[in-house]
Amino acid sequence: MAIYDQHMYTYFSPDASETFENYLKQTSGSIVTTEHLDFNDPFSGKDTILDYENYRQTIDKLNTQYNNRIRKGIEIGYTKESHQQIQDYLEGKEFDVQLLSVHQNGEYDFLQPIVKEKNVQDVMNEYFSLLLEAVESFPTANVLSHFDYGIRLFDVTVAELQEHQSILKKVLQTVIDKDMAFELNTRSMYQYGNVELYEQMIVWYLELGGTSFSLGSDAHSIAYYGFHFDEAIALLEKQGISAVTVFEQQQPVELSLDQFKENE
Ligand SMILES: [Zn+2]
Repeated sequence: MAIYDQHMYTYFSPDASETFENYLKQTSGSIVTTEHLDFNDPFSGKDTILDYENYRQTIDKLNTQYNNRIRKGIEIGYTKESHQQIQDYLEGKEFDVQLLSVHQNGEYDFLQPIVKEKNVQDVMNEYFSLLLEAVESFPTANVLSHFDYGIRLFDVTVAELQEHQSILKKVLQTVIDKDMAFELNTRSMYQYGNVELYEQMIVWYLELGGTSFSLGSDAHSIAYYGFHFDEAIALLEKQGISAVTVFEQQQPVELSLDQFKENE
């Protein structure tokens, strides 16, 4: 199988312990890992910062052994307050792909239990505003990740999501204007049960002229590598989409979905 999972972690992230070698065994093709960067991370009360030098050297070394099959990536957890720190961190560092994510509001992470006690409409208003702010103000990212992270703890219906279509369409339009890809986060879709919300977003994105999709499992171990990709691919094909976008040195490369399947 040669699927390409554009959202996963190794032991270079504090919440994962998986190795590059184990991911390489899952595919005959290339892999990329997208390690966490979260300043003032509410889960730890500290900055979660990727040790870039160690990461780069480890990958360079493995690449001599594994035919350059490993690419470098980072998941940027955006907050307005950390904007400058993020830019300073990224300065002079090379990544093949940068994922842009909103995980927190400066006070709490949207997966922390306190969020469940809030009104879902309030959470959506807040989260989607933060998401719009992130895509509008962060210039270099390639993929908008898990647009629904802030509402993973709720059972949101498509009708409830549609009440926020004005701001969500602005988010999608910005993704298009900035040549970013929209991520199908299969963990959100098939673990948190948000597949119908993704279907609605895909329809809006296509209506606005969006063409770039990224597939990411959010895997913290090989058990989740390519999690439910077959279903996500079927869903894209149902909408007439035949390729996904992967990034190499931050340049988009289209990968045919047939290619994913032929290699199964
Ligand atoms: Zn994330």
